[in-house]
Amino acid sequence: STIKHQPSTSLEPSTINHQPSTSLEPSTINHQPSTRLEPSTINHQPLTRLSGTQPFIIRPETNFVNIGERTNVTGSPRFAKLILAGDYEAALSVSQQQVDSGAQIIDVNMDEGMLDSERAMTTFLTLIQGEPGINRVPIMVDSSKWSVIEAGLKCLPGKGIVNSISLKEGEEKFKEQARLVRRYGAAVVVMAFDESGQADSFERKIQICERAYRILTEEIGFPPEDIIFDPNILTVATGIEEHNNYAVAFIEATRWIKQNLPGCRVSGGVSNISFSFRGNNVVREAMHSAFLYHAIQAGLDMGIVNAGQLAVYEEIPKDLLALVEDVLLNRRSDATERLLAFAETVKSQGKIEVKDEEWRLGSVESRLSHALVKGIADFIEMDTEEARKKYDRPLSVIEGPLMDGMNIVGDLFGSGRMFLPQVVKSARVMKKAVAVLLPYMEEEKEAIRAAGGTTQARGKIVMATVKGDVHDIGKNIVGVVLGCNNYEVIDLGVMVPCDKILQTAREVNADLIGLSGLITPSLDEMVHVAREMEREGFDIPLLIGGATTSRAHTAVKIAPARKQPVIHVLDASRAVGVVGSLLSADHKERFLRDNYCEQDELREQHLTRREQRVMLTIEEARRRKFAIEWSGYTPPRPAFTGVRELRDVPLEELVPYIDWSPFFHTWELKGRYPAIFDDENYGIRARELFDDAQALLDEIVRMRLLTAHGVYAFWHANSVGDDIELFTDESRKTVLTTFHTLRQQMDKGDGQVNYCLADFVAPKESGLCDFLGGFAVTSGHGLPELVERFRKDNDDYNAIMAEALADRLAEAFAEKLHEIVRKDWEYGRDEKLPVDGLIAERYRGIRPAAGYPACPDHTEKGLLFELLNAGQAAEIRLTESYAMFPASSVSGLYFSHPRSRYFPVGKIGRDQIEDYAARKCWPVEEAERWMAPNLSYDPDTSQ
Ligand code: SAH
Repeated sequence: STIKHQPSTSLEPSTINHQPSTSLEPSTINHQPSTRLEPSTINHQPLTRLSGTQPFIIRPETNFVNIGERTNVTGSPRFAKLILAGDYEAALSVSQQQVDSGAQIIDVNMDEGMLDSERAMTTFLTLIQGEPGINRVPIMVDSSKWSVIEAGLKCLPGKGIVNSISLKEGEEKFKEQARLVRRYGAAVVVMAFDESGQADSFERKIQICERAYRILTEEIGFPPEDIIFDPNILTVATGIEEHNNYAVAFIEATRWIKQNLPGCRVSGGVSNISFSFRGNNVVREAMHSAFLYHAIQAGLDMGIVNAGQLAVYEEIPKDLLALVEDVLLNRRSDATERLLAFAETVKSQGKIEVKDEEWRLGSVESRLSHALVKGIADFIEMDTEEARKKYDRPLSVIEGPLMDGMNIVGDLFGSGRMFLPQVVKSARVMKKAVAVLLPYMEEEKEAIRAAGGTTQARGKIVMATVKGDVHDIGKNIVGVVLGCNNYEVIDLGVMVPCDKILQTAREVNADLIGLSGLITPSLDEMVHVAREMEREGFDIPLLIGGATTSRAHTAVKIAPARKQPVIHVLDASRAVGVVGSLLSADHKERFLRDNYCEQDELREQHLTRREQRVMLTIEEARRRKFAIEWSGYTPPRPAFTGVRELRDVPLEELVPYIDWSPFFHTWELKGRYPAIFDDENYGIRARELFDDAQALLDEIVRMRLLTAHGVYAFWHANSVGDDIELFTDESRKTVLTTFHTLRQQMDKGDGQVNYCLADFVAPKESGLCDFLGGFAVTSGHGLPELVERFRKDNDDYNAIMAEALADRLAEAFAEKLHEIVRKDWEYGRDEKLPVDGLIAERYRGIRPAAGYPACPDHTEKGLLFELLNAGQAAEIRLTESYAMFPASSVSGLYFSHPRSRYFPVGKIGRDQIEDYAARKCWPVEEAERWMAPNLSYDPDTSQ
């Protein structure tokens, strides 16, 4: 062998050995000892020290350093698209994915003709500095333009790497740039280029590297450990004979450099090697890992790779490995042809097959369990079929291995080691498995029934979103979670009238009824259902859940409506525990006693709190109004008055405005986006969920699976007391209609303000020409079809995902439209807020939504919708409870005054209710019914 272990400390340039193995014998390759240094020399070898916000040191025992390659506009079309679209949020998530999947350094490249590369580099690296999950790793600033590199270097908090400099333009330029790199304190990649071009042979590679090394260490005083040579990984198997030795040349040059240029490092861009096999990931991944295997043995320290996409060398199928190594090591002249022929046979298979092979080798039971726990649906049909053949009856497969797997899922979820999105994924796998077995079970079911047996579910639950209410993501999640805990869930959907719920419960002999609701009028409907259950003598427990519900309201208002138990369920993760307790002979009694005691205490508190509450008279509250100094103020004028429609708005225009934090809340992962990805408990789960969301969102946008319509308007307006009058025209003589708003009535102390939305509009007596705006938007058209498609495929995970994304798009639409409105309205014309500034509402003006705390009366939407003609313009209608249908709709009013703000109206007194009823031409009881959650008194006792 020609391999020599050079004592590397006192190596004179003159002793550099130029004669290593140019004609490498294949047989020697596999048996190469690694070129790791002897222990005695370790101390003399300076370590390469890099850093992001945290140090990163390449030590002698460091095997190989992964450099993430996906944040490169020249190498990743997806990243290029995001950067060109200015979607830095999503671009950041690409770098996060890199770090998550094992990248220890990330390479950032913005070399794209259409880009202002300096700016893109600066923006992106600056944004990275706000991401603790990303900025801890060193950055490799990658560009062929020096100015871009310098722009990048200026943004690094730690010691990064310049990629790259070379002798391409001569020694002077090279030295100048090297000095600058030194001054920025960075390490440097030196490409094996010189004045005559790129080095492709072994001889050229080592000759250029040696020359560069001498200049850097002797003339510039560059520390050798900060020099990283890139001897050019070039594409093999191109069909051109001269290319056949490229991999060998790189590997041998690496070996030579590590032996002869002491202290320095060697790196390379790995995916280049397999470029001929674009689109064939099985072959590419095998080539990458086989190539790395040999190059690392030769001394390769680091490489730019797709860290999430490396096959394990030992797991490459032996036949494929032999073909790949024939090509890489240039072992036979027909190597390329043979690999190409093989490639045809594995085309379009992904890496799962290769990488996950190990769990595929277990028993069918262990495979089913693994698939359920990991939520992998790829093989479930195949495996279930295998189990069906193995077991005596299909039912045994469900009751045996499938339930065993789901029990593990239940335990992990119950103990907080698994999170909601994963459980829903597991449920999807379970459903797909059961779907395979169902056709075989019909006969069997008959037999069981004939024998007087019952089905095997642990209990039956009828669930519904109550009449007048349309939203059901939360209920759907609860249904899925209960379903995968072997409860039979009969989900009646949304807007379900009381009699249908009770009739179904009777028919199926339900063990429980669960009600859900999003908006406050639904609370009353729930009380109604509870009363009806009492009247009809139902003795099963009633469960209450959904955004508008609370422990207190359930205790004070719903539970007293019947003698049997009513239980508030906070969220999906509690549902299994509650239902389990209620249906367990051992725990039921205890659970109900606790529930009763807790509710009793809440009722007690409610009474005392009411006694302590100090309310102002409505006259006094009005004296404490928010007194804006109107004289000298000129209300801004909108560009138009009347209504404007926005039909079929392109979804891609809404995506950048999405606020992702509430998306994670929907899935019960609490935290702010994007910091949530760093959560030590579920950061990785949040990332997976987000990636799945992006994939579906891409499809929704590309295929236009949802349709977004909106409508908005400006009207001449002035406040009159607590009302806002709209006028038909400029003259302000004829009142078009009147919005009614409510005033805070709690005594907050003297000198404190009691707000009312009307306070933000110039009063009629001021003589000022003020304006009010209004809007309604939806992205819910098309959603039922999309959800149905996933349901049919037993894919609740994506069904729920679709609903959550539609909600996000509607809110994003509202945010975008508000931005348009501020521009139309003159005062926002120069506003330049980034998306996070919009989400944080750092702009002038507000858009309060009926049903929210500043305007708790949902019925005001009726007037708004009429004015906007929202039913036709945006195809949104209101239910009898004033919920917007389709779900995934948002509406509200626009106020322009710089001091307008959100506030909660809170509890209001009887005097204001009477006043409000008179203004709205309602009987007092009607006002009390709609405003029930806000009453400071009990309308039945007037207390
Ligand atoms: N970025 C969020 C936006 C919704 S929450 C998302 O994507 O989900 C913020 C909105 O709720 C406000 O714009 C306003 O329309 C409404 N809102 C919040 N607090 C309010 C209050 N006190 N009174 C009336 N509306 C309110």
